[in-house]
Amino acid sequence: MAKKKDTNTLYCSFCGRSDREVELMLPGMNGCICNECAERAVELTHEYLNKMANSRLTDLSMDTLPKPDEIKAYLDQFVIGQDTAKRYLSVAVYNHYKRLNQKRDDDIEIEKSNIIIVGPTGTGKTLLAKTIARMLKVPFAIVDATVLTEAGYVGEDIESLLTRLLAACDYNVAEAERGIVFIDEIDKIARKGDNPSITRDVSGEGVQQGLLKLLEGSVVNVPPQGGRKHPEQKMIAVDTKNILFICGGAFEGIERKIAQRLNTHVVGYGGGNHVSKADRDKLLHFVAPQDLRSYGLIPEIIGRLPILTNLEPLDRDALLRILTEPKNAIVRQYKKLLEMDGVELVIEDDVLEYVVDKAIEYKLGARGLRSLFETIMIDVMYQAPSLGKKKYVLTREFAQQQLSKSNFELLGEMSV
Ligand code: ADP
Repeated sequence: MAKKKDTNTLYCSFCGRSDREVELMLPGMNGCICNECAERAVELTHEYLNKMANSRLTDLSMDTLPKPDEIKAYLDQFVIGQDTAKRYLSVAVYNHYKRLNQKRDDDIEIEKSNIIIVGPTGTGKTLLAKTIARMLKVPFAIVDATVLTEAGYVGEDIESLLTRLLAACDYNVAEAERGIVFIDEIDKIARKGDNPSITRDVSGEGVQQGLLKLLEGSVVNVPPQGGRKHPEQKMIAVDTKNILFICGGAFEGIERKIAQRLNTHVVGYGGGNHVSKADRDKLLHFVAPQDLRSYGLIPEIIGRLPILTNLEPLDRDALLRILTEPKNAIVRQYKKLLEMDGVELVIEDDVLEYVVDKAIEYKLGARGLRSLFETIMIDVMYQAPSLGKKKYVLTREFAQQQLSKSNFELLGEMSV
């Protein structure tokens, strides 16, 4: 014990003060520490651990940062089509991480380039964001904007979206602070109605207001367990300055706003006739920030999502390619699974065409390809490991049989 002169008095082994001069003295085996030195020790430990964590971060310096064309080439291995969006994303992501390397020796500050992707559901928005994060080896989190509500209402606090990012990197704050957050269904928090003051809009404009500071970059207190903040919970401070936010939304009906703005006479808008699907798809190419505003996003949010791009609907050819071409294409996955049992899986071409036609017929899109395949393959996957056959040929008749005894027709009816 650090006892000097007076044997009943404890002295801090670090600052030398006596227990009468400090609030609390914690005795140890061979010495004592006062509350103030203990607090300082905690701070120093945190600083050290953060420094260590920083030194373990993936190298994203200018020498190693992949160039836009390299990012796009990587995306091409996993995502079919969507060339325009891939180019926009590659440049935006490159600039974002370049920004982390900027020197502070002049007045030019490169601003954040958060991204917003408009496009029908199931066309690859999440897949694109996820693939970029995997390439850069940075933490990634997907958050659904619809679960967020303004503080004080049922739902999750806006800050909780950073909880998932923290969880994705074992609560390593330094890593999370360079991560990517994908906010899905951003269109669902559009302002309802033109006059926001009539009723409280807790899941619309309120959330948009809350998102502002996150998108822009500020230090926010994140509840480690997510959900709602409560007073006893210890918060984790996260700086969002270098977090890249990618927002995605289907923005159903936005073509109408685009058409209005372009003042084009699109048959069907106001005229009563139906606008053709092709016309709608073409209009989406012209999506501009003003259209997002007419749709109900507040101008401040739009200003913080400066990169706007759109995704194309997937046609039959794209769906066919999705089945076989991506590095982890569904067909490749099944082949690999059976290969592990020593079975070669041969899939006849018309099986793929059949699966794609069913996905289109039941309006399941790319997301449905997997479940269709799963249904077709279930019996094969069940029997193959024990049957001892060396080869399995999947025919269209077999696929048809499998689907007709499943509930897929029902699913199709439900999804219409
Ligand atoms: P969303 O646009 O709704 O975010 P996702 O990215 O989640 O759609 O796509 C759902 C699934 O469909 C993906 O996991 C992937 O398997 C498949 N998919 C969708 N679009 C593509 C694409 N362009 N290329 C390859 N696969 C795709």
